[in-house]
Amino acid sequence: MNDNKTNINWFPGHMAKALKQMEQDLKLIDVVIEILDARIPISSQNPSVNNIIKNKKKIVILNKSDLSEEAENKKWVQYFEKSNVPAILCNSNSGDGINKVEKVIEKLMQSDREKALEKGRTRKVVRAMIIGIPNVGKSSFINRISKKAATQVGNKPGVTKQTQWIRLSNNIELLDTPGVLWPKFQSDEIALNLAFTGTIKSEILPETEIAYELIKLLKKDYSQNIVDKYKISITEILKNSSLEENEKIMSVMNLIGKSRGALIKGGEIDIDKTAKIILDDFKNGKLGKITLERLEE
Ligand code: GDP
Repeated sequence: MNDNKTNINWFPGHMAKALKQMEQDLKLIDVVIEILDARIPISSQNPSVNNIIKNKKKIVILNKSDLSEEAENKKWVQYFEKSNVPAILCNSNSGDGINKVEKVIEKLMQSDREKALEKGRTRKVVRAMIIGIPNVGKSSFINRISKKAATQVGNKPGVTKQTQWIRLSNNIELLDTPGVLWPKFQSDEIALNLAFTGTIKSEILPETEIAYELIKLLKKDYSQNIVDKYKISITEILKNSSLEENEKIMSVMNLIGKSRGALIKGGEIDIDKTAKIILDDFKNGKLGKITLERLEE
């Protein structure tokens, strides 16, 4: 891979505008709810947004936690809580974890509320802002927590949505914000993680290369997932010291293509189709529970 890739300029004007708006809105906000992808809890953080929210109170939602490894999920929750940021594992498709969110906000705001009461002020409404990169599941989360019908799910990355206030209970109001990406990815690794999970599409690289990089990553900790899904034997290939790494990856991809019947005329492997299969299977959780960003022990 070349080094230019992270210089891709992904910053349409409306995203800059969204950031400005967010900065304005933050003045009204007591707590920020940052929705992250549990498979990539670091890569799915928007550094531009984090610069803006600075020292606001924050909770983290580790969404899509049904697609990531349970043991890793626990480690990530501890990781955030060590820095005093409550983290909640959620599945916004099924609703798992969502009912904890209001309680966590209440707890976080308790001391502020008590202080306000001491000063003789009446019970204050807590205003929370929801932030999250495109495709992280923000609409699904909001639909779940506000118990609305799923009307806004599936919006495409980069499509601006009107910001809107949603009343949760008597005491909590949510402000939805458009999903924004940032001008420049800090590393190839982050750009790739966002491509694997479908936040950025093939703007950065052709799908064959994205799939290649995914296999390269999976062969480290998740080779068994590949074996189980495609019913192929890859241990020998991965152990074979006479093969270069790229040869190993291509061999694995070829075997996947073969097992899935992705062939072109003459019986050759259709590598484009194979790449699509791999990426779709990953995105849909068909390769099993996978955490791409793992914490060291
Ligand atoms: P938004 O762009 O952040 O508003 O994301 P959406 O709510 O439109 O969700 C993007 C995709 O992720 C949709 O296909 C959702 O069904 C899916 N999705 C959202 N939350 C979850 C989750 O917790 N688990 C799984 N497996 N899929 C989810």
